[in-house]
Amino acid sequence: MIMKDFHSNISGFYKLSIDERQKLLSNLVNLDPEDLDILKELGYFTPTQIDTLIENVVGSYQLPFGLAFNFKINGKDYIIPMVIEEPSVVAAASNAAKMARKHGGFQSDDVPPIMISQIQITNLKDIKAAKEVLESRKQDLIKIANEQDPLLNKLGGGAQDIEIREIQTNKGKMIILHLLVNVLDAMGANIVNTMAEAISPYIEDISGGKVYLRIVSNLATHRVARSKATFDKEMLGGEEVVEGIMNAYEFALADPYRATTHNKGIMNGVVALTLATGNDTRAIESGAHAYASLSGRYSPLTKFDVDSQGNLIGEIELPLALGIIGGMTKIHPMARLALKILNLKSSSELSQVCAALGLAQNVAALRALAAEGIQKGHMALHSRNIAKVAGVPDDLIEKVSKKMIADKKIRVDYAKEILQKINDGENL
Ligand code: NAD
Repeated sequence: MIMKDFHSNISGFYKLSIDERQKLLSNLVNLDPEDLDILKELGYFTPTQIDTLIENVVGSYQLPFGLAFNFKINGKDYIIPMVIEEPSVVAAASNAAKMARKHGGFQSDDVPPIMISQIQITNLKDIKAAKEVLESRKQDLIKIANEQDPLLNKLGGGAQDIEIREIQTNKGKMIILHLLVNVLDAMGANIVNTMAEAISPYIEDISGGKVYLRIVSNLATHRVARSKATFDKEMLGGEEVVEGIMNAYEFALADPYRATTHNKGIMNGVVALTLATGNDTRAIESGAHAYASLSGRYSPLTKFDVDSQGNLIGEIELPLALGIIGGMTKIHPMARLALKILNLKSSSELSQVCAALGLAQNVAALRALAAEGIQKGHMALHSRNIAKVAGVPDDLIEKVSKKMIADKKIRVDYAKEILQKINDGENL
């Protein structure tokens, strides 16, 4: 129960220790001792570690860390760690990977780790002259940018090129300069932001304009991952299921409402691996959906065809700015472990795996929809969750869940009703 004089006007919360914050919160919203026990459970983090990650930390939030199997990508076997709360996703990925494995697995293209940093140049009197001068000083801009990250440079990465775009806005014309940076094995946002800030005073000097924004673009169109696989017709469930998948694909192509859910299925895999490896899920999500809309119409990120034997050929294409170094990847203990399980040599390899996983996830969802309806596969795990929500004790979850499925009534109220009957000694 929230206290009567509750308010959220709190300053200096960040100055307190985690312990003190927990106590303050407890007083504010009237926590039970059990709630406090959950908050105090920081898992593998020390208070100092977790307190330096974000602001106003009061606890640690855990999610399941599962493994998807059967993936062969470019001839190499992978076990793929996934962090996700949704039942059935991990099993579905492993299942679809098996169907592709029969036909050699996934073929993923190399993913060049080129990121775009945007510099917004405004208040220009002569747009054409500004463009010319920027183009002519390209090498100077690249040199200044590369002075910011000597290590990246030494390792063979760094700023490589520029793109100059002119956009029409409600505040008039602007030049948007894209600095293209090879960020090697990093996601690269910090790298390119630092470079953009460093070259901006020079850009103002030579263009006569005023620079405002200097920041990475999450629409990483130079860092596009592509993967392809053939999924076995018989393992999918036969000709009719393949036909159903092709129909589902056409539906997604023609209808953005369906394309959104089609792509959500892809992101079940992509985001679960992104999170497991400590990468930036928001960057990946925004990039993927913007890419899906590049044609002017929101579209599926995968495409499908049928080969001469009736097998399903699937392809995926989306930008994937994933790192195996930097950001959280080496700080978060589980992310470190995930990368160890994956046994990767480069950020490109992680993106190749991620694209294959997204494709597998999509095929699994489409197969379930075409063959049996998504709910059937989903329901076993979902019904267990419902039973838990209904307060069914652990030793009775399986029994209550089975009864709900058998009676086709997977609802909290029904779980409670079954539990009551069990407690009353009824033989179910
Ligand atoms: P970073 O700055 O933590 O680390 C990159 C650094 O590692 C490089 O500067 C380089 O000097 C060094 N390095 C060593 N070996 C390297 C190698 N083999 N390849 C590449 N670099 C190597 O990491 P980052 O990837 O620049 O930044 C990622 C973080 O930025 C993420 O946590 C993300 O959430 C955050 N971020 C994202 C956005 C966004 O809009 N997406 C914006 C700001 C920050």
